[in-house]
Amino acid sequence: MENAYQTALQQFEEAAHILKLPKSLYLRLREPEWATETNFVFPMDDGEPKLARAFVVLHSKLNGYFKGGVRYDPNVTFDEVKALAMWMTWKTALVNVPFGGGKCGVICAPAEHSNEELKRLTSNLTRRLMPFLSPHIYIPAPDAGTNEQVMAWIFDEYSARQGIGDCYNVVTGKPLRLRGSHGRKEATGRGLRIVAQRVISKMGLVMPEKPRVAIQGYGNVGSVAAQEFYDIGMNIVAICDKGGAIYNESGISIPKLNEYMAQQRIAFEEAKRIISTEKTARRDIPNIALREPTVAGFPEAETRNRDAFWSIPSDILIPAALENAITESNAQEIQTLLVIEGANGPVTPGGEKGLLKRNPYCIIVPDILANAAGVLVSYFEYVQNTEWYSWTRTEVYEKMEAKMAEATDRTLEAYKKGQAKHSLRMASYLVGIEQVALAGKDRGK
Ligand code: NAD
Repeated sequence: MENAYQTALQQFEEAAHILKLPKSLYLRLREPEWATETNFVFPMDDGEPKLARAFVVLHSKLNGYFKGGVRYDPNVTFDEVKALAMWMTWKTALVNVPFGGGKCGVICAPAEHSNEELKRLTSNLTRRLMPFLSPHIYIPAPDAGTNEQVMAWIFDEYSARQGIGDCYNVVTGKPLRLRGSHGRKEATGRGLRIVAQRVISKMGLVMPEKPRVAIQGYGNVGSVAAQEFYDIGMNIVAICDKGGAIYNESGISIPKLNEYMAQQRIAFEEAKRIISTEKTARRDIPNIALREPTVAGFPEAETRNRDAFWSIPSDILIPAALENAITESNAQEIQTLLVIEGANGPVTPGGEKGLLKRNPYCIIVPDILANAAGVLVSYFEYVQNTEWYSWTRTEVYEKMEAKMAEATDRTLEAYKKGQAKHSLRMASYLVGIEQVALAGKDRGK
């Protein structure tokens, strides 16, 4: 398994070399400013104490306050969180918002906890994060395994610890009623579609009339992306999540798939509620209700196993689950024209080589550009909270589209200059890192 942090460092080294970064900035940006592990205990519904381990990494604030998601995942590692924090620094700079990179990862399996347990876990985590949390230090947001409910709990616990008032701009991705922003939930998936369309048109990529789209991950990012590409008439032929993959050559109906997912979610939440409130043993709940909702089994498509997903031919492939999804070993099976990185770090360096070996003309749109609309609308939420203003969904989308177009164009310009050696990834790094370095230079670093 490739290590995401080693990948992030390797990419940084290459960009720093091309940019001829002065040594003081090189050393400063190569390591996170803060990297901490914390362990805490929270009670389960049956009163049993449970230990949780969390990692907090604040990479750089040269370009602005630390910003980055909170991830709940059983396999999260310190190195992964370090990589994600570093990528956030380059991403925020690339889309030109005044933030730096941060990230928090908690080793836990959210699907196995009741809502009450997750709330207690989150409140305990928030207490541990108090030295870092602040609208002027670290401002978290949702990431894999967390959502607006988790952000609402962080906001509430943080505010309670501050004293009498409430502090809305300490966290973004909150529910609308708690001053979340219109369009935040949809931002990342919508941004993938905006960037894909712009890259296709600006690079003159030849696509079939109804391009075939394959998506790995059907959470916040993947499901919204599926809807967005479906709405512009593309053919969603394959989707894969933790539970398996589905395939339909003539196209999957996203509204029908969403109904199928919603039914499972209701049964799953009800099963979790019964276990936690009525103290019913898990073995007494039907297996199907205890299954984490999955696209697998959708009646209007063929269900395949997860590994079989990669060999399904597509024109656009969107890895939107977790990092290290496309590696040297599965890249050879992949037949596609355009990869849009919805997740952070889904294509490893070996995976990138493999994709290009299979199709030398394959274009890979890197994560720090493709999925940047999430942090962009988080920034809009922060601005609205700070200024006590509320933009309409249309206003948010207009601003987001303009900024994403600008970031895409800046990347394509750097790409055309040739220093990036024909890689959009390196082009986006050069733009992002240069911006952070210039901010550092202005500070006299
Ligand atoms: P999520 O938890 O809502 O969904 C994750 C999805 O990936 C689920 O459908 C899950 O079943 C699937 N998955 C997990 N492991 C898998 C595996 N081994 N094989 C196939 N599918 C698997 O997470 P999300 O918020 O959609 O985030 C997904 C990715 O996008 C992460 O890398 C995250 O860092 C990145 N990202 C998220 C946002 C955001 O706004 N949420 C913004 C930018 C980047």
